This record gives sequence, C-alpha cells and structure tokens, in this order.
Amino acid sequence: MTSNTSTMHAAVLTRYGEPLEVVSVPRPVAGPGQILVRLQSCGVCHTDVHIWRGESVPQCAPSPFVMGHEGIGCVEAIGDGVSGWSVGDRAGVPWIHDTCCHCDECVDGYESFCQQHRAHGLNVPGAFAEYVVCDARFAVVLPSNIDPLTTAPVMCAGITAYGAVKRSALKAGERCAVFGCGGLGLYAVQIASRLGVKVLAVDRDPAKLEIALRYGAAETEIADRDLPERLAAKGAKYHACINFAPTTATWDAMVAGIRPRGRIIAAAMVFEPVPLVQEWLTATGVVVTGTSVGTRQEMRELIAMHAERPLETMIQTIGLEEVSDALIALEQGQSKGRFVISFSG
Ligand SMILES: [Zn+2]
Ligand SMILES: [Zn+2]
Repeated sequence: MTSNTSTMHAAVLTRYGEPLEVVSVPRPVAGPGQILVRLQSCGVCHTDVHIWRGESVPQCAPSPFVMGHEGIGCVEAIGDGVSGWSVGDRAGVPWIHDTCCHCDECVDGYESFCQQHRAHGLNVPGAFAEYVVCDARFAVVLPSNIDPLTTAPVMCAGITAYGAVKRSALKAGERCAVFGCGGLGLYAVQIASRLGVKVLAVDRDPAKLEIALRYGAAETEIADRDLPERLAAKGAKYHACINFAPTTATWDAMVAGIRPRGRIIAAAMVFEPVPLVQEWLTATGVVVTGTSVGTRQEMRELIAMHAERPLETMIQTIGLEEVSDALIALEQGQSKGRFVISFSG
C-alpha cells in the first residue's frame, strides 16, 4: 500500500452500516500542539460496531469519518509548541483525543469522565488510516520495543479493564469476580491477578474459563441459571464484582456474590435497566458505580505493567480492506480474539 506524501489510504465511513470504503484521502497535518502518527496497527473495538451502525452518532462527525481508537505507530511529524515528543517515537492512539482540561473531573484526575472529551474515530478522525493526528498531551508514550499488533488492544480494551480494576479499589489478597471473559474480561483477570487479587472468572463458555485459569484466575464459574444461588451460598464473597458482559443477565449473580461494602463496577455498555432495591443498599453499603476507558495516569501504569510482561490476548491480524468484515464478525459474536489491522503489508 503506497501513498504520495499528500495523501493516505483510509477506511472511510460514508453511510452508517454500509461497508467502509478504503480510499485515498488527504494526509492530515500536525497543527499546534499535535503530533502526526504513522500507524503500524489498529485494533477493531466493539464500540466501532456501534459507531458504524449509527448508534453513537456524533453531533459533529469528523471529516473524513475514519473510525479506530486502538492505534499504535511512530511519530512522523510534530506541530508547533509540542514538547516531550521526537520524530520516530513510538506512540499509542487511545479513545480519548482530548478533554476540556478545565472541569472538576479533569482537574481532579478523573479526566475519563470529562463530559466534553473528544474521541478518536467518533469526534475526530481515528486510526483506520495510514496516518492520524493526535493531541500531543493525550497520545500514549510507549517503549520502542513493544509489539504493535498485540499492544493495539491495550489502547482501549486493556485500559478499560485496568480502569475498572482501579475503580474497584481492590487490595492484594481481596477477592474479585470478573463477569464476562471476552477480550476485556481476560485483560481484567490478568491485571487483577498481577495486583495480588484472587480472581473468580465467570463466563457461559467453558473454553474461555480455561483461558482465564491460564491467565491467573484462582477459580471459575459457569454463568448459568443457578449461578446466583451458588454465589449466595458461598461463605467468602467478593470485594468487587466487575461486569464486562454486555447483558443484564449477570446482575442477579453480582448482587448475590458481592460482600457488604463491596463494589459493583459496570464496565460493559448495557442499555437496559436492572432491578435495584434501595433497602439492600442501606443494609449492605454496597457501592454501585461504573467506568469507561481510563485516565492518562492509569494508562502509564498499565503500559509499565505491559512492558514488564506483555498482557496476553488472542489477536486476528487483518488488512485495512478487511475492517468491514471484522465489524460484521464482531457484531455476530464470531471473532476469535481481537481483530487488529496491520499496516505493514
Ligand atoms: Zn474501544
Ligand atoms: Zn473536562
């Protein structure tokens, strides 16, 4: 795949739900405060399916509308006023392009809850392209020796799992139940285990539970009809229950498994309501909260963990022209691991 210096290839969303068109578009230019990243890889995330289907329509769509927020590449050019980056540095392109930097959430260190944040591939062009422009303050500093293919999903799936584990305020020796052992859940199993937490992995699929055990889970449970009963009967309950399953079906099991003063963390996007009895909150002091991606500080901690010993994930490498097929496979639950675009071929 070659482009001249003023253009690049990109997979462009022209109509919601229609195949992305791999076309030649103007190569972006790094403006003040920005860096231009030449991509080596970009993961395909389930959020991309929602965007592609028009379920998360931005108020102001980027032009060209290029999705993708799990990019890894190298700095190609640097805009005015940027410090801390050099041409050739390895850079990650995460979900958050920038935040307002002024609201209480931004100032308090909870920037991922900034209601004015702009996202790569939703509000500004993303990384399903040979080049992308990043805000120099929010691009992820990466060591030069990381593998671009297996690190790409860390930019969204990994940081979302890390953010959820951090939000659950778990301490070493405590017990955590991870519901849903897809890509995010399996990251959470590894992250929590490495922090010394005893992890229960829960999924409908026994094969995923086998992987969870290999990744450090202490115990597993099949997510079946009787799971709430089995968890309620356990003597030692869980300090945190984290939900990565895109369903309300795990709610009863989380309520049954959580300890008094435990934390229930919503990490999957579930749009339907769940039953919550307020008297139960007064009796148990359980905290119900949620999380989305993570902060830059959390990303630094996660990258340090990943650089020391890479977080494991199964990936399927694809070309840019295969992204539409990957979106369909993701939507139909037919992926065997995370799809990652390789720009090298
Ligand atoms: Zn994502
Ligand atoms: Zn803000």
